[in-house]
Amino acid sequence: MYPKLTINLNKFKHNLNTLNSLLESFGITMMAVTKVFCADQPLIDVINDSSVKYIADSRIQNLKSMKTSKKRVLLRLPSINNLDEVVLNSEISLNSELVTIEALNETAKKYQKTHEIIIMIDIGDLREGIYYKETIIETIKKIKSLKYIDLVGIGTNLTCFGGIIPEKETLKKLIDIIKTIKTTLNVEFNIVSGGNSSHLHLINSGEKVPYINNLRIGEALVLGRETSYGKQINDLYKDIFTLEADLIEVKLKPSIPEGRIGMNAFGETPIFSDLGLMKRGIIALGRQDVDFHEIIPVDESIRLIGSSSDHIIVDLTHASLDYQVGDRLLFNVTYGSLLSLMTSKYVTKTYL
Ligand SMILES: *Cc1c(COP(=O)(O)O)cnc(C)c1O
Repeated sequence: MYPKLTINLNKFKHNLNTLNSLLESFGITMMAVTKVFCADQPLIDVINDSSVKYIADSRIQNLKSMKTSKKRVLLRLPSINNLDEVVLNSEISLNSELVTIEALNETAKKYQKTHEIIIMIDIGDLREGIYYKETIIETIKKIKSLKYIDLVGIGTNLTCFGGIIPEKETLKKLIDIIKTIKTTLNVEFNIVSGGNSSHLHLINSGEKVPYINNLRIGEALVLGRETSYGKQINDLYKDIFTLEADLIEVKLKPSIPEGRIGMNAFGETPIFSDLGLMKRGIIALGRQDVDFHEIIPVDESIRLIGSSSDHIIVDLTHASLDYQVGDRLLFNVTYGSLLSLMTSKYVTKTYL
């Protein structure tokens, strides 16, 4: 059935192993992040067959459903209302709230398990983490006193909300905190998790930031690029995922709707410019599956002009081929479209 997302497992394997060896050469372990592909099991199996140490996801449902023997890391801060699931379905979680960590301790005690945590520090991107200017010593002391919590690491997240690029100067804020904790409490961390795919621009230019020995990598695995500047990394594939959708109508029509213009199906008032008569196509794919701005036609001579819940309208006027009903259009994906296409149950997934 179409629309269809084709997933090349060999290319994914190549990206995974290449990145993992690259990071290893810098003394950095990798957490393979699976949220963008909803922890799809065939891709998880590729990770299972690799020497990657950790598997990480932001959704507890994904960690629960995946079959893996790797250490499972919960990336999104756990909700204090849902800690049984966290303790039962992850070995490590990222945390920033002492109340949650204390409650995690109680939950871990209930199951007679030790739960490992990585404490998150916000060094300016303003998403999760204890703000770096706050005193963290008391918090660390309290965490260390919890019997069922093992403080295995410290980490930070950049280029997520604030778009802050990881640079030595910025990361020094994290390193200073690590040093302070070491000198005041004599506490050291096994894992210093320096960020996500945006950190790879430093690796790409051969820069090793001291202390950082772990990265949580999602986008670079699936799209082959770092995310500070969007540059391609080495010989990584960027076309692991390709999308195909059917043309269900091809007709010559005007470029401006006729009659008085009100709202479209989404409460927006559309604006059109008069381009004369057009060859217009409709593909069987819509907003319920993907934002049409986020899919890239492989045939550069076609243009996407709009969408509704179940349809995307295509301008075929200047197309290099004479497209007909039943033809399939091929697209490349971005992070945003991959996220929603993998989530849509209406998109068939096939594997190469
Ligand atoms: C999603 C996520 C990552 C991975 O980010 P990419 O840019 O896809 O590499 C890393 N850390 C956290 C906390 C995340 O939520």
